[in-house]
Amino acid sequence: MATRVIPPFVMREAGQFEGYSIDLWRSIEKELGVRSGYTAYPSVKALLEATKAGREDLGIAAISITAEREAVFDFSQPMFDSGLQILVRDQSGSGNAMPSFWQVLFSPTMLQLLGVVFLLIVIPAHLLWLVERHHEGGFVEHKSYIPGIFKTGWWAAGTLGAQADEMPKSWAGRIIALMWMFLSIVFVAYFTATITTAMTVQQLQGDIRGPEDLPGKKVATVAGSTSETYLREHKAKIRAFSQIEEAIDALEKKRVDAVVYDAPVLLYYAAQAGKGKVQPVGGIFRKENYGIVLPENSPWREPVNRALLTLKENGTLQALYDKWFTGDSTGSPH
Ligand code: GLU
Repeated sequence: MATRVIPPFVMREAGQFEGYSIDLWRSIEKELGVRSGYTAYPSVKALLEATKAGREDLGIAAISITAEREAVFDFSQPMFDSGLQILVRDQSGSGNAMPSFWQVLFSPTMLQLLGVVFLLIVIPAHLLWLVERHHEGGFVEHKSYIPGIFKTGWWAAGTLGAQADEMPKSWAGRIIALMWMFLSIVFVAYFTATITTAMTVQQLQGDIRGPEDLPGKKVATVAGSTSETYLREHKAKIRAFSQIEEAIDALEKKRVDAVVYDAPVLLYYAAQAGKGKVQPVGGIFRKENYGIVLPENSPWREPVNRALLTLKENGTLQALYDKWFTGDSTGSPH
């Protein structure tokens, strides 16, 4: 009997296995009048390989029935309705807050804007210097480049930031000044809009609301799971761990944007250890069923299926569900 730790289906407490799948298997054992030993595998992949190689008679954990696996293995009747879901950091925390004043001040967007400001000062400063320096009584007192350009540069900066305090005297200078003042108004509006957008976009980028937001995001999951296959097909940047706890830890430490994994496992975690730290978003976006996996043509398939259906019909499966998923610990499977 191959298994794998995946709470709350299979858990290990003081060397003893427990959980929904373990309880279910014990009930099946009782129906069949057999007893089995357990071997825990580090991943579904390893579990499946051992089963394929005939080292195990069957495997039970939270193993999804998929077309690809059905081609190589036999599965029992479905024993649990499941599916994939997304887990993110608790939104009420600071994880997805607006960027701070300092983050905006030292952002690449700000650098670009400052580059534009520089150009918008240097260009009119030169134009004005060229047309104003020979004008009698013009506002450039020094004909030479160095003091003259400082004067026109100061004027350009002052006009961009506030209002011109002095005006060119030549006609060409006045036309340049008018155009420059108009350009300043447009630029200040653009500046404000760009900063606002930068802040909003940064805020929205952290937001994953559904599977359509996953492509391109850093998403943690468990290696060899159906979730990893899904994420690979949908072009997410995958960080694959061997245990779900490690994936959730990466999420809490902000090393990834989300976790994608089996919904019951994520919901169980979010309601217990992860309360206030992580939260599920959206519903189940891909339905899956768990089954007991057997090597092809296994003699166990028929008796296991018969026992499983009996347990479904006599309410044992429902009692197990209540015991492990609704917090009703009085629901006895026997
Ligand atoms: N339902 C998942 C699968 O069968 C579980 C993976 C796991 O146990 O890590 O791929």
